[in-house]
Amino acid sequence: MAKDLRTYLAELKESLPGDLIHVRKEVDPNLELTAVLRKLQEQNRYPALLFENVKGTEIPVLANLIASRDRVALAMGTTSAELARDYVKKEKDRRPTLTVDSGPVKDVVYKGGEVDLTKLPNIVHCGNDGGPYISSGMTITKDPDTGIPNMGIYRLQIKGKNRLGFYLGEYSHGKHIFNKYDTKGMPCEVAIVIGHHPCMYMAAQYRGPLDVNELEIAGGLLGEPVRMVKAETVDLEVPADAEIVIEGRTIPGLREWEGPFGEYTWYLGDAVENPVIEVTAITHRKDPIYQDIFSAHPEHNVCGLVGHEALLYRKLKEAIPQIKDVCVPFSGTCRHSVYLSVYKEYDGLGKNALLTALSAHPFIKLAVVVDDDIDVYNESEVMWAVNTRVQPDRDVFIVPDCYVCELDPSAYSIKDRAIRGALNAKWGIDATKPAGLPFQPRADVPEELWKNLNLNEYIADER
Ligand code: MN
Repeated sequence: MAKDLRTYLAELKESLPGDLIHVRKEVDPNLELTAVLRKLQEQNRYPALLFENVKGTEIPVLANLIASRDRVALAMGTTSAELARDYVKKEKDRRPTLTVDSGPVKDVVYKGGEVDLTKLPNIVHCGNDGGPYISSGMTITKDPDTGIPNMGIYRLQIKGKNRLGFYLGEYSHGKHIFNKYDTKGMPCEVAIVIGHHPCMYMAAQYRGPLDVNELEIAGGLLGEPVRMVKAETVDLEVPADAEIVIEGRTIPGLREWEGPFGEYTWYLGDAVENPVIEVTAITHRKDPIYQDIFSAHPEHNVCGLVGHEALLYRKLKEAIPQIKDVCVPFSGTCRHSVYLSVYKEYDGLGKNALLTALSAHPFIKLAVVVDDDIDVYNESEVMWAVNTRVQPDRDVFIVPDCYVCELDPSAYSIKDRAIRGALNAKWGIDATKPAGLPFQPRADVPEELWKNLNLNEYIADER
């Protein structure tokens, strides 16, 4: 049996019972569903929730599935600590997709006038969002120059029965491919996949070259080829074992207001004039599960985390073998910062590592490099190094007028830095000690005296 959302949920029930909670009470998709997730977040709880009874639709909603590193690790068959290293290993083992004649995603087919997006769960995630959004759609397009498919997650505003607003970040492969069609006055065909094995979502967040098909990366992460089937109304293949697929094409040259939308930055992303998709077909299983990703919530951050960390690990290791660990921290929205540790064998290595990290992906705005005695997964240790090993005039540098992401609310305009725009400065902090000079030794009790110390012998009777 091919791996899909169903096989994963069965595995989850077995391996992490209690991580999947069924909600039987009826919920309103307009802010009540995300209110439940928000209340749980206040308690630092991130279970997956299956909302069985959602107002206005017959389709249940699965939320929060990839809000935990442990659940992603279960999907990849590894541990939370090894996620990035495991991803880098498996992405090398990418597998061509397997074309099949049919699959469960074709159980129900709506075409043309039968298409009605309002029958899907129309979820409004944040107050002041411009409307209901599909936030968990993995959009497949095809590069017209190479014929190679691309898959990425882009925000989609539901604007009617067969109309979607389509936001593609400037840096994204999707935008680059869309531009190739749109500048020639041609529609860009899309297939939007909702609900599949978490490895598909991790593959959709693959950060690598344009000519690598993310569906082949998914095959590597899953350890088996993804089964694909011909779309109904566009010249694309779609995953046969998905829950729901939406097919459509952009309307050449057309831009409409889209947004605002609560983003991964946990700020509202502005309303902008964006492309529009005309939906030509919806296909789904006979009893589909609609998977949602809460956009201004840790789930969105975790979703992007693994692919991003893997990219940095791969690029840094390639350039600098002295790299020890790489962490994309939560405080940087799992996108904008990276902490890395190095075995500093020679002076200058720290700054070179920073330059590699900052250029590895547009999203990286801040890179901090520390010595190998600092645990990059422990943010207060990283900040301790910044506070005790850095002199800003020598160890901090700034590169103005780069692109990071226009969704960063502090981004500025090239014309006037007082107004918002798409430009960011990137900065690096070298918190490593000099390699060629003596440095104050750390003050500590010798490890052999405390590491295995039995506290009960000393303080067991304290109340
Ligand atoms: Mn791509």
